[in-house]
Amino acid sequence: MDFSLTDDQRMIRDNVRRFMDAEVRSNVRRYDREEKFPGAEIRRLGELGCCGMLIPEEWGGAGLDTISYVLMLEEVARVDASMAVALSVTNSVVAWPLWRHGNDAQRHKYLQRLARGEILGAFCLTEPQAGSDAAAIEARAVRSGKTYRLNGTKSWVTNGGESGVYFVFAKTDPTAGARGITAFLVEPAFSGFRVSRHEDKMGLRSSRSAEIVFADCEVPEENRLGEEGQGLKIALEALDGGRVGIAAQAVGLAQGALEAAASYAKQRRAFGKTIGEFQAVQFMLADMQTEIEAARLLVWQAAQMRDAGSARAGAFASRAKLFASEMANRVAYKAVQIHGSMGYSRESDVERMYRDARVLSIYEGTSEIQRVIIARDLLGRTDKARSEKIAGRSVTEAKA
Ligand SMILES: Cc1cc2nc3c(=O)[nH]c(=O)nc-3n(C[C@H](O)[C@H](O)[C@H](O)COP(=O)(O)OP(=O)(O)OC[C@H]3O[C@@H](n4cnc5c(N)ncnc54)[C@H](O)[C@@H]3O)c2cc1C
Repeated sequence: MDFSLTDDQRMIRDNVRRFMDAEVRSNVRRYDREEKFPGAEIRRLGELGCCGMLIPEEWGGAGLDTISYVLMLEEVARVDASMAVALSVTNSVVAWPLWRHGNDAQRHKYLQRLARGEILGAFCLTEPQAGSDAAAIEARAVRSGKTYRLNGTKSWVTNGGESGVYFVFAKTDPTAGARGITAFLVEPAFSGFRVSRHEDKMGLRSSRSAEIVFADCEVPEENRLGEEGQGLKIALEALDGGRVGIAAQAVGLAQGALEAAASYAKQRRAFGKTIGEFQAVQFMLADMQTEIEAARLLVWQAAQMRDAGSARAGAFASRAKLFASEMANRVAYKAVQIHGSMGYSRESDVERMYRDARVLSIYEGTSEIQRVIIARDLLGRTDKARSEKIAGRSVTEAKA
């Protein structure tokens, strides 16, 4: 496998890194404390093409590959994981499925503005009683003439209250289970749309996580994305891509924590030496770096599988997400440990990173759900190989 980046990929990584270091880094701690949404900074990244990286240029996007996309997210998350999740949701689970499943009118109306960073997107699948078990959602969309009447409550909506378009999943046929779910594009100005509250979170405090209530919300028929009953398939396909983005977010966060810890280890002194001279600290740093590199390679592999259109791209995304999200928690833990009491202070960046890391193994599918997907792929392939072997043997036996 070729691990080298192209000149364009290196340029994207370096430009985003420069922007994050120069324009964002100095504000991140304050924004976290004040729960200030970094809207202006995200808009500037949008102008650089970071909101529609995977969308073709004819629809306002940057038309880039998934490696470029994960490099961008890693650099953003290295400084601010809250900004990274806003970009990941807009790119992976709103703009991309809209490009893939939307018609030209929907692309004209929403995709171009999303891809240019003029509006953000939100993905509304989770409900108070249904997270991992997405088929158990209860939101209902009932057709009446040329509109659908949408009722239900969506929770933990990233970018909720800050988005120009909400990608909402609701049941149009409750008797059909997972095949009765349909996707809609909802504008916040539609009647019956209301942000009912914002979550008070452990981490990612400058990102928005809203509860949204749809009360007889009127959605025009032309805002249905795909056919009735295709919603869950569209959602799960989008989440396959989303997981590559969250894995990149995890790698970026961990890289930021490692850099902070290495720099602290070189200047903090104890027993007449810098703490970086103690082997115990060196070993922590060595393990952190090794795990980050392993996760980064899984992310790049998942990105390549996606660009190659592999049928197994979803399982590779789950592997990257599982390992990278749990790795980021281990790395953030060690970064706090190396900082000692300073790591427990709100004056350090690693304290925020430690809190921000915790959600990585929960959202866009918990670690347990990733393991379910990975095991299903593994055992499914084993079954397939066995049945091919059996089929091969019976052919051989028949020939004999
Ligand atoms: C900060 C944040 C942002 C989010 N953003 C969004 C968003 O933008 N849009 C959106 O739709 N959702 C969003 N979510 C919701 C998120 O995707 C869900 O929280 C997640 O899918 C888990 O669902 P749950 O919280 O209901 O947990 P549950 O499904 O109730 O799971 C609870 C526990 O049971 C385990 N479990 C459940 N089923 C199984 C199983 N089959 N096998 C083994 N273990 C199992 C889980 O792994 C977990 O440990 C966000 C969540 C957070 C915290």
